[in-house]
Amino acid sequence: MPQPDFYPAPTTVRIWRCKYVSQCKVRGCLKRANLIAEKTDVAGRHVRQIELCTQHCEVVIESE
Ligand SMILES: [Zn+2]
Repeated sequence: MPQPDFYPAPTTVRIWRCKYVSQCKVRGCLKRANLIAEKTDVAGRHVRQIELCTQHCEVVIESE
């Protein structure tokens, strides 16, 4: 299982409601993801998206 790859480069995170069933991408978390953190770079280009549960989504927002 790939580790979540949080970019150290300056990025913007946008949070979307997850419309499909997916598991939280944080290692060891077995919860259902209900949010998607979409990362974009300084130019607003899509970098990647990470499916997260509510709890881990808050952690990601606070760390940005
Ligand atoms: Zn989680």
